[in-house]
Amino acid sequence: MQNRDAVFLEDLCPKLRVRRWRQSLHTFTGESCIYCGHPSESIDHVVPRSHGGLSITENCVPACLYCNGRKSDEEAFMWYRRQRFYDPRRAMALRAWMDGDLRLAIRLLEWAQPIEKKNTTKSSPNDWDYQAA
Ligand SMILES: [Zn+2]
Repeated sequence: MQNRDAVFLEDLCPKLRVRRWRQSLHTFTGESCIYCGHPSESIDHVVPRSHGGLSITENCVPACLYCNGRKSDEEAFMWYRRQRFYDPRRAMALRAWMDGDLRLAIRLLEWAQPIEKKNTTKSSPNDWDYQAA
């Protein structure tokens, strides 16, 4: 069977394959946590492994250590709704991601991503000068 060959190849270099795969997940979100937008430092299983969640792209999302640790074994959407940083666009992105529609998920995340550049606010020019220096 061809399936056997595929499994064999994956067994041959599992570490490299897993590392590449994890890196690609982080790249999809611009290396930011799918839940809160902070830098993603880990991969979170949306459905925890302890609940039968698989290590496949649809079930693995980039997450910061805070979100990954806090969510732990809880159902992702239930947990996420209670968070201060809850953003419905991110929830939709998560749903799209789990459906395997990464393109839609990425679009939603870009939309949800806070825009850092503010329109010339003159409230604290010193801070801006400091940052620019
Ligand atoms: Zn996070």
